[in-house]
Amino acid sequence: MVNTITKTTKSQEIFAAAQNLMPGGVSSPVRAFKSVGGQPIVFDRVKGAHIWDVDGNQYVDYVGTWGPAICGHAHPEVIAALHETLDKGTSFGAPCALENVLAQMVIDAVPSIEMVRFVNSGTEACMAVLRLMRAFTKRDKVIKFEGCYHGHADMFLVKAGSGVATLGLPDSPGVPKSVTSSTLTAPYNDLEAVKALFAENRDEIAGVILEPVVGNAGFITPDAGFLEGLREITQENGALLVFDEVMTGFRIAYGGAQEKFGVTPDLTTLGKIIGGGLPVGAYGGRRDIMSMVAPAGPMYQAGTLSGNPLAMTAGIKTLELLQKPGTYEYLDQITKKLIDGLLQVARETGHQVCGGQISGMFGMFFNAGPVHSYDDAKNSDTAKFGRYHRGMLERGIYLAPSQFEAGFTSIAHTEEDIEKTLAAARDVMSSL
Ligand SMILES: *Cc1c(COP(=O)(O)O)cnc(C)c1O
Repeated sequence: MVNTITKTTKSQEIFAAAQNLMPGGVSSPVRAFKSVGGQPIVFDRVKGAHIWDVDGNQYVDYVGTWGPAICGHAHPEVIAALHETLDKGTSFGAPCALENVLAQMVIDAVPSIEMVRFVNSGTEACMAVLRLMRAFTKRDKVIKFEGCYHGHADMFLVKAGSGVATLGLPDSPGVPKSVTSSTLTAPYNDLEAVKALFAENRDEIAGVILEPVVGNAGFITPDAGFLEGLREITQENGALLVFDEVMTGFRIAYGGAQEKFGVTPDLTTLGKIIGGGLPVGAYGGRRDIMSMVAPAGPMYQAGTLSGNPLAMTAGIKTLELLQKPGTYEYLDQITKKLIDGLLQVARETGHQVCGGQISGMFGMFFNAGPVHSYDDAKNSDTAKFGRYHRGMLERGIYLAPSQFEAGFTSIAHTEEDIEKTLAAARDVMSSL
């Protein structure tokens, strides 16, 4: 197998120009490829499991616009529904019947959600849920885990995983200490550390927020009993448990990680998939807690474009597609084939790797493993990952440009896509 991508001149020209116009040439940091080296490709169009760059090269895509493209990019039914909605206008700033439809679908799907509020991004959902945790418990402190990402709001930019870790920024300048001083952190999968924090901060902790399966420090799964343990500890201490399912919602299972693991939090944040590729976030949970949100209650939170008809339409259609029988079985099967194949190729070519998948979410570390926490993940050979990433890109395989990001498949990925990927991986890993 030879390099299939040889000419990327247009991408280079556009990215060079972008660097004069926008910080780092991008609208979101990880896109700039800083941690893997080389130049990002500039996309022209996406369809199914594939993307095309501005030079006309085709790639198999394992980023899926960071998760939302679970039905494959530009699914014809999603696009058709969007066209129909578009003709009626792009934003109402007033109630719209489509909000009821998506709200009902989310409530039916996600065990913890009895009421939901739509916002415009995962970041917004997490900001709002934090305010709600504090408003409901009348406590200020919150526990998050090292390597978990909950958007870029000040209070969460403490040991926040991928984007931040990738750039080697321990904390972002501009975040006041006074804001993060009430953010307590513990290592992922470490119940004893959480118990100690509760003991040291008795009656001061509003709650615990986490990615129930981590995707922002690479792919890390909860150890047996970890989620259950958090449920117990929070209940014993009058604190709330919040699952940030912006990534895992409708991905790990239709009802998210909480369905998969059978642990029901008090509140949940969503995003990514529920917007079907348009900007959306949501938070929801127990009715008594959600009733505190304005205008039903006193906790203020608002949004000009929230619940807009285009985003609602893409979300509704995407969830409808996911409801078809066999969706999650297929995602699981195709992704298992991918990750088992990658791990086998790596071992046969003499590399220490570990990794895994649940449904259509996967990850592989250049690390002997096992990886239970962000500290474990950080032992990975990121320089080697960078070379692997570049080699795969040159062979037409688009992977997330960081060792600390999960990968995603879609129902549009075929056996043929997987085989092409494994052939490329064999080629690249033989010469790493
Ligand atoms: C992506 C992500 C966010 C932030 O969502 P944005 O839409 O990028 O603001 C928050 N939490 C988790 C777990 C995420 O994966």
